Amino acid sequence: MKPFAFVFAVAGLVAAVCYMRPGPASSAPPRDMLSREPLAPLQDGSENDSEAENAATADAQRLVVLKQNQQALKALEEQRYEDAVGLWRLALEQNPEDPMLRQNLSRGLGRWAAKESALGHHQMALDLLQEAEQVDADQGMPAYWSARVLLRLGKRAQAREVLQKALQQFPQQVGLLRLSAELAVVEGDMALAVAQMEQALTLAPDSESLRQRLQQLRAEEEMFRTFLTDSTSHFESRFDSQDAQMVQWIPELQRDLEDAWADVVQTLGIQPEHRILVLWLDPERYQGQAPDWSSGLYDGRVRIVVGDYPAEQETIRFTLRHELTHAALHTLGTPVPTWLHEGMAQIAEGRQVEMAREELRSRLPLRIQPEDLDANWTAWEDRDKVAQAYFYAMVFCDWLKQNYGPGVLINLFQNLRGMAWEDAWERTFGEDFVSVEGRYRRSWEKE
Ligand SMILES: [Zn+2]
Repeated sequence: MKPFAFVFAVAGLVAAVCYMRPGPASSAPPRDMLSREPLAPLQDGSENDSEAENAATADAQRLVVLKQNQQALKALEEQRYEDAVGLWRLALEQNPEDPMLRQNLSRGLGRWAAKESALGHHQMALDLLQEAEQVDADQGMPAYWSARVLLRLGKRAQAREVLQKALQQFPQQVGLLRLSAELAVVEGDMALAVAQMEQALTLAPDSESLRQRLQQLRAEEEMFRTFLTDSTSHFESRFDSQDAQMVQWIPELQRDLEDAWADVVQTLGIQPEHRILVLWLDPERYQGQAPDWSSGLYDGRVRIVVGDYPAEQETIRFTLRHELTHAALHTLGTPVPTWLHEGMAQIAEGRQVEMAREELRSRLPLRIQPEDLDANWTAWEDRDKVAQAYFYAMVFCDWLKQNYGPGVLINLFQNLRGMAWEDAWERTFGEDFVSVEGRYRRSWEKE
C-alpha cells in the first residue's frame, strides 16, 4: 500500500476516495473545507487605547466609531456573530464611507457565513457572503468562500461564475486562481487548470505545494493529449484514442457506467446536478496516479482502471458503483463521515451483508472505536483493523435500515442537505448518534 499522503497530493477539490481490490475499499474522511483555512484578520482601528483617546479629542464621532468597532470585535471573538455584524452595520450606517468598518463588516459576515456553512445552513452562508461582497469585495475573499460553499453543494456552474467574476476584478489573487484551477481539473479543462496554476505560482513563487500541484497537472495535461471525451446522459467519459482496445471497449463501459449510476441514484436518493468526469485508464497510467492496491479512485473525477475488460467486467461494475457512491455523497453539502461513505459504497456495490456480518464475526473482538468511525482508514497499517472497519460500516448501514425502516438513510441524506451532521442525524433517528451507534456496538460486544 502506498502512503496515503500520495493520494492527497493527487486530490484537488475533494479528498481522494479509493476502491481497494480484492479486499475492502477505503476512503479519506470528508473534511469541512471551510474550517481548514485561516481567515483574514480584522482591524481594531487603533494600535492602543491611548490612540483611541487621542482620536476622541480630535473627533468625538470617531471615538464612537472606534468604540463600536471594539465592541463588535469583542462580540466576534466570543463568537456572537450576529451581535458583531449588527454593531458594524449600525456603525457603517452612520459612517458609510469608512473603509475599516466596511472591511471589518465584510470579514465579520464571512466568519458568520463559515459558521453557518459548518452547521449545514448553506443558503444562509451564501446570503451572508453576498452581503459581505456588497459591503467590501475585500480582494475577492467573499467570492472565494461563496465558490467553496457552492462547490460543497455540487453547484459547479455557479461556482465557476462566481470565480470568473472575482478573477476579473482581482486577477492577482492566488487563492482564487488556485480554486479556479482545481475546478477546471474536475471540469476536465486541463489547459485552463495548468494556465491558472502557472499564474498562481508566478505570484507565489515560494509555494512548494503550488509547484508540486502544477507538476502533476502538467503531467496530466500531457497524458490527455491523445485522449478523447465522449458524453453520455450523466457523464463525460475520457479515454486514450490511440489505445485500440480501450476504444473498442468504451461503448460497453459507458453502458456499465450509466447502469451503475441508475442503481446508485436509487440507492441513495441523491441526484447531483453536475456531470461527472470519468477517466478510463490502462493499468500503467492508472498506477501513476493512484495507490497500487486500488482499482478506482474519486478525487472530483472518477478514475477507473481497465486492464482486460471482458475478463474484469464484474469487478469494474462493482468499482463503478462504489466510486459513484462517493461522488454522489460528496454533493450533499454537509460532509459525511467515513463509515457512512464506505458502508453505502459497499451496499451500492451489491455486497452481501450476510457475508460482511460473518466476516466481522470471524474477526471479533471488535477493535473499531467510536473515534475510528470518521478516521482516515487508508492510513492504518493494520489491515485486519481496516477490514473490520469496512465490515462494521456496511453492517451498521444495514442495521439502521432493519431498525428504522428501509428508507431511513435516504431520509438522512435529504436532511443533510440543509443541516449540520448532528442535527440531521437527530432529525432522522430521534436521538443522537452516540446513543444509536452505542446500541449497534453493544449488539457486537454481546456476540
Ligand atoms: Zn471507498
